Amino acid sequence: MAELEGLEFGKSDFVLLDEVTMEQFMENLKLRFEKGRIYTYIGEVVVSVNPYRQMDIFGKDTIDAYRGRELYENPPHLYAVSDAAYKAMKRRAKDTCIVISGESGAGKTEASKYIMQYIAAITNPSQRAEVESVKNVLLKSNCVLEAFGNAKTNRNDNSSRFGKYMDINFNFNGDPTGGHINNYLLEKIKIISRSPVTWNLLFSQLLRGGTDEMLASFHLQNDPALYLYTREGTSNNDRSNHKAVKSALEVIGFSPEEITSIYQILASILHLGNLQFESDGESVQIPGLDAVSHISKLTATEPESVRKSLLYRTVATGGGEVIEKGHTEKDACFGRDAFAKALYERLFGWIVSRINGIIEVKDYNPVLHGKNTVIGVLDIYGFEIFDNNSFEQFCINYCNEKLQQLFIELILQQEQDEYQREGITWQHIDYFNNQIIVDLVEQPHKGITSILDEACLTVGKVTDTVCLDSMDTKLAQHPHYTSRKLNPSDKTMEFQKHFRIRHYAGDVTYSVEGFLDKNKDLLFQDFKRLMYNSSNPVLKEMWPDGQLSITEVTKRPLTAATLFKNSIVALVDKLACKEPYYVRCIKPNEVKSPVLFDDARCQHQVAYLGLLENVMVRRAGFAYRQPYARFLQRYKMTCEYTWPNHLMASDRDAVEAIITQHGFQDDVAYGHTKLFVRTPRSLFTLEQERAALI
Ligand code: ADP
Ligand code: MG
Repeated sequence: MAELEGLEFGKSDFVLLDEVTMEQFMENLKLRFEKGRIYTYIGEVVVSVNPYRQMDIFGKDTIDAYRGRELYENPPHLYAVSDAAYKAMKRRAKDTCIVISGESGAGKTEASKYIMQYIAAITNPSQRAEVESVKNVLLKSNCVLEAFGNAKTNRNDNSSRFGKYMDINFNFNGDPTGGHINNYLLEKIKIISRSPVTWNLLFSQLLRGGTDEMLASFHLQNDPALYLYTREGTSNNDRSNHKAVKSALEVIGFSPEEITSIYQILASILHLGNLQFESDGESVQIPGLDAVSHISKLTATEPESVRKSLLYRTVATGGGEVIEKGHTEKDACFGRDAFAKALYERLFGWIVSRINGIIEVKDYNPVLHGKNTVIGVLDIYGFEIFDNNSFEQFCINYCNEKLQQLFIELILQQEQDEYQREGITWQHIDYFNNQIIVDLVEQPHKGITSILDEACLTVGKVTDTVCLDSMDTKLAQHPHYTSRKLNPSDKTMEFQKHFRIRHYAGDVTYSVEGFLDKNKDLLFQDFKRLMYNSSNPVLKEMWPDGQLSITEVTKRPLTAATLFKNSIVALVDKLACKEPYYVRCIKPNEVKSPVLFDDARCQHQVAYLGLLENVMVRRAGFAYRQPYARFLQRYKMTCEYTWPNHLMASDRDAVEAIITQHGFQDDVAYGHTKLFVRTPRSLFTLEQERAALI
């Protein structure tokens, strides 16, 4: 527990609430926010509220104050858990991870940056050049990923549309030696969107920050108003951000040719965005051939091949004959947009794997160098509940069910382990096991993902509604699933196309509209072949599946939901073998205000994050524990036998004297090295007595 700072700042640990109720929780959270205390613990979990202003708590002095200290020695801070994770890793050779979750704009990415900066600041005290360079590359990788993965949305100017997991490897000295990055579900629909709500700023950065020479060679003009993808999305810092990203790419170790290729791909996406079709009712054409010629130059492909892949599809007939089928205007537009998104997605994926190739630890010999340990940092979107929830929210919320499951399991496991280590009898804690919801999504044959995939594989016209019917039939009995059709009296689901999942965090109504298309994530094979045949090796490398000939393409690629599910299962496996630390981020309001605490919005988030449950789990056992010596140090003045010094055989006995004198013996258990206190009430009494005496 954190040092009690004085109650005017609220309780620094939610386990100390008099009662675990939503009212008390919210009251404390609000008070602390208003007093500028943005961090509060639940045991070892940090609850963070986005301050929306620069706080004076991230400087070198603060880092020094937290370095090597225990959690309860300082006010709650990200640095304290970072240090705890680092110490566990270094002293006990444990792999650890820090899981940061919360909704868009809650401060996850900022938190992950502070954590990485803290780790960078406390490692390599001897300033060895090769370690400094590893640290620098790791920090710069983060910058590049953010630049490519972010979009400006109405909720967050700098919203990461992907989940990011970064492993940092350490040698036996506790110095970073390298790392590895995994990314999850880049929401391409939002990165490149024809709607003006969201946009990626790399494009306007290129237009505003690129040299005249570069822009000329890309056939671009430095006016974002001229391009569909940049018309609405610019920022005042475009020029300097362009420089920062470019130099980060250089520092990480991308070659000049690779960097040029990256910008060429971005430029071709800009041209694709502006490309129009014309139809005379019979055939579809591309008016003027400038765009096609620019794209072909930028992607090192033949102009005629570019034109053809935009206007035709090559298909194999049943007899194995290959024919060209002209697109309708609608198909052509669909193809163009899918191509633009896929170009971006493959570029992002390629950048991640290229960075991994550079930062991966090579030639590590455990015999020579000792155990290679890891701290993982996960920055991932929390529960999303919008007015309109679609396929993306479905994926994200499934991911949160999985993480919640792991969270409860690991927290309980951690408690259990500690009790065992300390020789204390473990009492079973009842909690809601959300396996049933996880199964609802991922179970083979019966789960929603399987039903979706089945619908996607069915030949012929399967619509979203047909798919919903199939879900209704198979899931009618499931206690966590309902739909408008199954439950016609339910007015909260307005339309027949809605279905609802009762998530652990609350009910979410999804609209099935677009589910199938998004799950199929269809990209015509012609584009893949076009890119694979590029004479630019970087581009070719991004499209290995383009080498299949038309008659070979029989096996369908995995669907988006299945790919996502597989990646989340792998993520959970990775986390499960590490000692976890948690940061739960809350966004105080929708208007980026540093003073406004929107009660209803915050309460929603507290519910979605399962924070009350977290406090209960934590309190169900022993809310509170402290090593004997520290406990004694703090409370020895409250007991005549221990003040100023005790004459007993051990600190443990002295602590027992304090507890007995106060009549708290039923509220505690004595571990091998620590005192365990069941309810916070006893501590409060001690704390108050102490305050009265000093
Ligand atoms: P998320 O990653 O959860 O979507 P971000 O970390 O990008 O959210 O935070 C959104 C914005 O909130 C940031 O751009 C910044 O303006 C502000 N913010 C977040 N955390 C802090 C902080 N600790 N101090 C100051 N401002 C912050
Ligand atoms: Mg983010």
